[in-house]
Amino acid sequence: MKIIAIGRNYAEHAKELNNPVPTIPVIFMKPDTALIKDNKPFYHPEFSQDVHHEIELVLKVCKEGKHISEKFAGNYFDEIGLGIDFTARDIQNKHKEKGLPWELAKSFDGSAPVSTFIPKADFEDLYNIDFKLDINGETRQIGNTKDLIFSFERIIAFVSQYITLKKGDLIFTGTPEGVSKISVGDHLEGYLSGNKLLNFYVK
Ligand code: MG
Repeated sequence: MKIIAIGRNYAEHAKELNNPVPTIPVIFMKPDTALIKDNKPFYHPEFSQDVHHEIELVLKVCKEGKHISEKFAGNYFDEIGLGIDFTARDIQNKHKEKGLPWELAKSFDGSAPVSTFIPKADFEDLYNIDFKLDINGETRQIGNTKDLIFSFERIIAFVSQYITLKKGDLIFTGTPEGVSKISVGDHLEGYLSGNKLLNFYVK
């Protein structure tokens, strides 16, 4: 399986990092070694002094497809969960300055904790889903899918022009504003429509 992630999909987050609001989706990938499941701890890497949390909704792909049209893209994901796109912001900033790829900042071991998944059919409106991230009991990020720049269908249609989607692939759909540094000992709790699905510590 592979993890595809969308950068800058909420305008207020693009602005907080002084990035332009994109007109086509910004795409990057994480390997399967980035995954953390079952709320196991995240081990803070030694190579970064500025790892940021990015809470995101994650789509689970349910069948193989390429060149998927936006109209049918909804048939290609059947479950939604929460994930954290951990980002070594210090490394990413250096690479961005030089126009270099982001892998070392985005794709390291453990950089993609994911929750259990909820059937898509359980959501009344896919474009009015609340989610949030608390750290040590304090709310740091609040998002709602009504603020997405690129819809789930648009993301799937766009990505599948270039990369074949396969059953079990995960798509991180971007983070709202409020990203900040995490520290060893932090307790992260992620809520999807009021249900606490993420609940783990930084070690
Ligand atoms: Mg992200």
